[in-house]
Amino acid sequence: MKILVLGGGGFIGSHLVERLKQEGHWVRAVDLKYPRYAETPADDFVIGDLRDPALVRSVIDTRFDEVYQFAADMGGAGFVFTGENDAAIMHNSGAINLNVLDACWRRNIKRIFYSSSACIYPQENQTDPDNPVCSEDSAYPAHPDSDYGWEKLFSERLYLAYGRNHGMDVRIARYHNIFGEKGSWHDGREKAPAAICRKVAMAADGDAIDIWGDGRQTRSFLHVSECLEGTIRLMRSDFIGPVNVGSQEMVSINQLVDVVAAIAGKTVRKNHIPGPLGVRGRNSDNRLIAEKLGWAPSQPLRAGLEVTYGWIERQVRANARDL
Ligand code: NAD
Repeated sequence: MKILVLGGGGFIGSHLVERLKQEGHWVRAVDLKYPRYAETPADDFVIGDLRDPALVRSVIDTRFDEVYQFAADMGGAGFVFTGENDAAIMHNSGAINLNVLDACWRRNIKRIFYSSSACIYPQENQTDPDNPVCSEDSAYPAHPDSDYGWEKLFSERLYLAYGRNHGMDVRIARYHNIFGEKGSWHDGREKAPAAICRKVAMAADGDAIDIWGDGRQTRSFLHVSECLEGTIRLMRSDFIGPVNVGSQEMVSINQLVDVVAAIAGKTVRKNHIPGPLGVRGRNSDNRLIAEKLGWAPSQPLRAGLEVTYGWIERQVRANARDL
């Protein structure tokens, strides 16, 4: 197949390009930047700004069998939940999705995947850390806790509208905290698993590391390899979604620290400090994807964390003088 990966220089996009090349497809990737941590195997890599409609029309210049849309202004809690980046997030990601869908429609591209987020779920349903509600049908009445989540919800609706009105095969996944090697780990956009791996890797045995909040907030985390499997299965199925792509293995942030410390073979104390937190509890609800695609993650959280910790520990060692 001929496949286009928008945001192919980012974390999930660059992993997908590698996977699609292993499957033998011809792949074009587009991003503001090349992947930071590995050479891209893409057949064609276009450096360009997808907020520019002319650029978008120029890269969707041919009949692609599949288009994956990952490009977004994106980061962890320190980027999304401070409020300081809301205008940029909504403008930039909104413009990308408007441009991409319109160009795909005009070029008669049929099948397009959109990466939405668990951040679309109403904040009221995620106040109890032990019982968060994140079933797909709980999205409305809508009340995401961030403008990042509102943009994702708007764009879900945009993709669904193009599907209905223009006969396009859209597929929408709501990702829940994807983590893994070759992702942000110290640039201010890193998420909890990478930040904790970095802090543990930098700590001496017995040291304390800073944790935002009381650490009792809960989340689930999905390794990027599992995310790609769920994504490709959804793309090549008849199911439109939106559907959760995540793990149901919910842990508190304190438990996440304990798992990483155990992998590192260190004792680390937790120093709880104020910081941007997001909702109190969140977990993927995988009933719908199990029913429609027969898919569930194949590995426990610890397996993905072992690989990720090893990679981040190597980054920490290689960059020790600059940290
Ligand atoms: P990422 O930030 O690593 O990748 C996004 C890529 O988009 C970056 O490489 C960035 O340079 C590119 N980009 C941003 N603006 C652009 C522009 N104007 N023109 C061209 N490229 C541009 O993020 P990721 O973790 O790989 O996430 C991929 C997608 O999945 C995003 O849409 C994100 O919102 C969504 N998502 C991710 C997670 C997660 O846990 N990683 C969770 C939910 C949803």
